[in-house]
Amino acid sequence: IPLDLEQFFSVLISEQQQFFSDRHEFIFNSSGNHKGFWGDQGLLRLIFSNLMTNAIKYSPQGGKIELHLTGQESEVIFSIQDQGIGIPIEDQTNLFQPFCRGSNVDTIPGTGLGLAITKACVELHGGSITLESQPDQGTKVTICLPKQHIQESS
Ligand code: ATP
Ligand code: MG
Repeated sequence: IPLDLEQFFSVLISEQQQFFSDRHEFIFNSSGNHKGFWGDQGLLRLIFSNLMTNAIKYSPQGGKIELHLTGQESEVIFSIQDQGIGIPIEDQTNLFQPFCRGSNVDTIPGTGLGLAITKACVELHGGSITLESQPDQGTKVTICLPKQHIQESS
């Protein structure tokens, strides 16, 4: 069955908020048509919980975390933006490699596997992931996932 993405995200966000006891302000909005999207629920949970955990972990208490979902004809686009510590420019190229971590996160625990796992799961869906970050300003991760199950019947 196709996934109800709005429902999916509202569950995920409330789980994260429970776990982190409202340390951050989540803002979720969606636009466009994201009906007819099929994906593996387990992998999608992995993708988005990794990104939410990063946004929480690397931004200050009370920080705003914006999640945006938009649906187009043939793909859904999701972005998550935080107002956190950002990533030094020179560290930004290798972050999707296993065990790579930024030089500014020494005091914050992590294994450096989250983004590598996330990228692999996105690619298993035929999608793509990009990251933009400004040191001391924040980070934005964008994911495009195709609605590739849709096939014209002949
Ligand atoms: P874990 O395996 O527990 O997720 P991690 O968070 O260190 O550990 P990744 O999620 O792969 O590993 O992220 C890799 C690195 O990218 C992080 O160590 C951090 O330096 C940087 N990073 C990722 N997301 C953010 C973010 N939202 N803000 C700032 N830095 C980030
Ligand atoms: Mg992580």
